[in-house]
Amino acid sequence: MQKKAEPGNTQDLDAIIIGAGFAGLGMLWRLREELGMSAQVFEAGDDVGGTWYWNRYPGARCDSESYIYCLTFSKELLQDWNWSGKYPEQPEILSYINHIADRFDLRRNIQFNTRVASARFIEETNRWEVETDQGDRVTAQYLITGVGCISTSNIPEIKGRETFEGESYHTGAWPHEEVDFTGKRVGIIGTGSSGIQAIPVIAAQADSLTVFQRTPQYTIPARHGTVNRKFLEEEVKPNYEAILDKARRSKGGAPVEFSERLAVEATAEERKEAYEAGWAEGGHKFLWGSFKDIGTDRRANDTAAEFIRSKIRETVKDPETAEKLLPTDHPLGSKRALIDTDYFETYNRDNVELVDIRHSPIQEITPEGIRTEDDEHKFDMIVFATGFDAMTGTFLKMDIRGRDNLSLKEKWAEGPKTYLGLQVSGFPNMFMITGPGSPSVLSNMTISIEQHQDYIRDFIDYMRNNDVETAEADLDAESAWVDHVNKVAEPTMYMLADSWYLGANIPGKPRIFMPYAGGVGTYREKCNEIADNGYEGFILSGEVAEKVT
Ligand code: NAP
Repeated sequence: MQKKAEPGNTQDLDAIIIGAGFAGLGMLWRLREELGMSAQVFEAGDDVGGTWYWNRYPGARCDSESYIYCLTFSKELLQDWNWSGKYPEQPEILSYINHIADRFDLRRNIQFNTRVASARFIEETNRWEVETDQGDRVTAQYLITGVGCISTSNIPEIKGRETFEGESYHTGAWPHEEVDFTGKRVGIIGTGSSGIQAIPVIAAQADSLTVFQRTPQYTIPARHGTVNRKFLEEEVKPNYEAILDKARRSKGGAPVEFSERLAVEATAEERKEAYEAGWAEGGHKFLWGSFKDIGTDRRANDTAAEFIRSKIRETVKDPETAEKLLPTDHPLGSKRALIDTDYFETYNRDNVELVDIRHSPIQEITPEGIRTEDDEHKFDMIVFATGFDAMTGTFLKMDIRGRDNLSLKEKWAEGPKTYLGLQVSGFPNMFMITGPGSPSVLSNMTISIEQHQDYIRDFIDYMRNNDVETAEADLDAESAWVDHVNKVAEPTMYMLADSWYLGANIPGKPRIFMPYAGGVGTYREKCNEIADNGYEGFILSGEVAEKVT
């Protein structure tokens, strides 16, 4: 019988799972309950939650609507859980994840406060040997990563950073104790998804807030509020399966109808009417509900971008501040699309100042604050909302080695190479949940996570039923997939901004578009087709033996 998860483990298991967020928890349940396998989860945090365990900054919430941001493996859970907000807020998501861990008795196979230091594929035994920073040495046939796509926070190398004498925090590694901004002079660097959520909330509490902005953003009001109970009870819950089915076949993992209209064919009045309606309703519908060519035709994109700029000018009272906030150097949607609550309105507060660091770059962090080319700003606190070494950072912090002792770091030296974002050639029986090369961060994450969990479960089941000991991406299939991922991204707006999707936020990181932009529905079809063809593009153990001999 599998032992309880405790440090110093030396077990031989069927599977090792890294991470106890949505990805790791759902995977554990599937392997343990549906396939009857022994599995152990290693989790760096002291509790479940993954992304939602670490990102506790003020204002943190998800941009997917709550009724569709959920795990669906249990029909009862789907019916029982009641979200309170239109969008799920971080504390409630964390409660939800804790509820799942308790309800399905998942904690007994999770070892917390434990980081995987290394994972090595032992060719003689066809097993993975995993070592942790707590002295565990565990082997398993399968290694499954649920490490999240945005989980290694990035604090830029700014001169003097260590000298600051006040408090400083990164949004992605926020303390568990409440951070009190009352009476404090706060500086915040970064205006991505995290920054634009945190800024209005901090501004409302702090004595003063200074925002250091490098790239102005397009952001649309979320119109967040309490959940529509009637919609949830009468339309969603009785029809959950159909709603989920639609989400799974969609482009972004949400059950929505994209507009069929083209902005380039509409009159100026029709465009204004559509954009005003989207702005009033709020959320990402502004994009998908107005015109279908915003993401594909720069002329259409320009019309939506100009509308947002007009809203910024209209909202922000000080013309000089408004001008600094206007995004002009990248198309709408080329960086992660943002939705906010009172973001632009916050710049009308007397206690908020905007510093454009493109024009007055940060020179250094001093014991007392931040010095830019033009000014010296004194702070009690600095908040880094400066993002993540996304998609690959967490993988490369671990020493993962496949066949011939090849490290993942070497394998990915020119950027991540995967087959379907699920496997890497030379790393047999290692499966990645939402790895680079899959739609992941371009979608509603829970839909993508569960697609991978189901796929990995079915693949392992197939292997067990067909006496296949190892499955490994074929190098040619992997190269073809990498080419396909690049080709699909090529004509999109995503290629027209310096974003973390391209690794552009991390100095020295290869500039490769990492997620798959073909949409979750198309991707799912491809994955299923591959499975139906006997897992085409994967080398199954018998075939490896043939190749080797
Ligand atoms: P991010 O999108 O990478 O934004 C980082 C911000 O920091 C940007 O404004 C960036 O400026 C700035 N920055 C980075 N390095 C800097 C430097 N050296 N000097 C000055 N400024 C610097 O990170 P994030 O806001 O944490 O979001 C990451 C992702 O997490 C999101 O795209 C999203 O996928 C996810 N997320 C989602 C939600 C949600 O669902 N609502 C909330 C939070 C996060 P530049 O733009 O010029 O690079």
